Amino acid sequence: MTDLWKAKRQTVKNKVWKEFRLFILRRDKERCVLCGRDKDAVILQGGHIFRGHHDSTMFDELAVHCQCKWCNKAHNDNNWPYWNWFIGKYGQKAFDELKIKHNSNQVLTRGELVELYEHYKNANKEYELIGTLTKGIHFE
Ligand SMILES: [Zn+2]
Repeated sequence: MTDLWKAKRQTVKNKVWKEFRLFILRRDKERCVLCGRDKDAVILQGGHIFRGHHDSTMFDELAVHCQCKWCNKAHNDNNWPYWNWFIGKYGQKAFDELKIKHNSNQVLTRGELVELYEHYKNANKEYELIGTLTKGIHFE
């Protein structure tokens, strides 16, 4: 296993993103929050509400949702479908606060990145364990 304390910062961020993205997709039932298409129909991605991949909101659960490849791509040209969806679901205040957070110059420390990695890795493992247990209960 890569030593997260010695690896390049970008390598660590990529590893966190891999776990975080999986967590987000599962949380959103592996369905695009905008058009509703699922993993059988289209490639799913973790779509950031604000562009730029700032440390401040890169791994913020409120700032990232499951999006299909096409809705995520369209977001680059027009923010409003995603932003309107977000405001409809969480409210204008949450949107404004998240935008302020996004524009802050917060930089994640190595320790914070390692913590995020462990957190989402464990959450994903737990999800898989629950899935296995559920399968064991229903004899189908
Ligand atoms: Zn979509």
